[in-house]
Amino acid sequence: MTTNTMARFAGNGVITFETNDMEPVRPGEVRLRVEVCALCGSDKRLLAAGSRVVPGHEIAGVVVETARDAMSGGGTGGDRVGVGTRGIVYIPVFCGRCAQCERSRTNRCLQLGELIGWQRDGGFAAYVDVPARCVIPVPDDIGLDVAVLGLDTVGTAAHGLRMALATQPDAPQRLLVVGCGPLGLGVIAVAQEFGIPEIYATDPNPARLATALESGAKEATDLHSHNQYDVAVEVSGADRARELAQQVIMPGGAVLVLGESNEPYTMPANPRWRRTDCFTVRSFYFPLDEVEQNWKVLRHCGPSLRDRLAHPLALSDLPEAFESFAAGVHLKPFIITGAAS
Ligand SMILES: [Zn+2]
Ligand SMILES: [Zn+2]
Repeated sequence: MTTNTMARFAGNGVITFETNDMEPVRPGEVRLRVEVCALCGSDKRLLAAGSRVVPGHEIAGVVVETARDAMSGGGTGGDRVGVGTRGIVYIPVFCGRCAQCERSRTNRCLQLGELIGWQRDGGFAAYVDVPARCVIPVPDDIGLDVAVLGLDTVGTAAHGLRMALATQPDAPQRLLVVGCGPLGLGVIAVAQEFGIPEIYATDPNPARLATALESGAKEATDLHSHNQYDVAVEVSGADRARELAQQVIMPGGAVLVLGESNEPYTMPANPRWRRTDCFTVRSFYFPLDEVEQNWKVLRHCGPSLRDRLAHPLALSDLPEAFESFAAGVHLKPFIITGAAS
């Protein structure tokens, strides 16, 4: 019997903790001891609204138990992730059988139902049970505090950029990042790895912008003129940021929309937009067939990203972590529940 301590979001910013005995591991699933669970900007929406499940969706941990059927195969991938496997958690619970999953485009699963940390229990806990196929084993030479950045911060950034670059017949020369939170900084790091020569950034928050400039981006000073960037990456979800990306893009360029908010994404109704070729590219997560390439990116830029972003805290510090996160004091608090290795 495993005793678990987990965070609950009651709504209106209230976080409580619960300690329970866990049910046996379900067929096809494994139990992870959570070593690292990073806070994400999108968690703030759950914090305000409340969550019926344990939140936390940027999870790294170690497998401590597997369901019996998972070890005996059965197509669940359990044989890949035996006890002791160090892994990060792929949050879309993909079916593994549809036409998209068969091509490893698991983020496009046609039967996509739950996301871990959103519709089923996530990682702000000591332990979490996840489908075995959602555990991505981490190479031995990559620490879990770096590997966890392979999810939203680098995985999603790299996938979005790959999609945006695929629209461009010529190698993009100028890229703008609008919004310099953790994902924006991930986009800057990946764009550097991809060899984009001129990377610009803007953010109304001076501290966030300063971190982007320390990472090697240049400050975008002209936020009005048309025809400036081959790729404009919108990473905040704010109306103003979306308008800015649409304003400064080159004809034929790509606006990559990674930001999320509750506001609808609108196209401008002005003559200039009507008379411009432009791609609008949207993604929320990466497919599993990009994981190997992403480890290469992470080996190179992961440690410095971690040093720039991460602020380690204990699970019991979660309420303070969200306060410091919301205030912009810490860019990406990491909840470390075990000895991160
Ligand atoms: Zn996230
Ligand atoms: Zn599928």
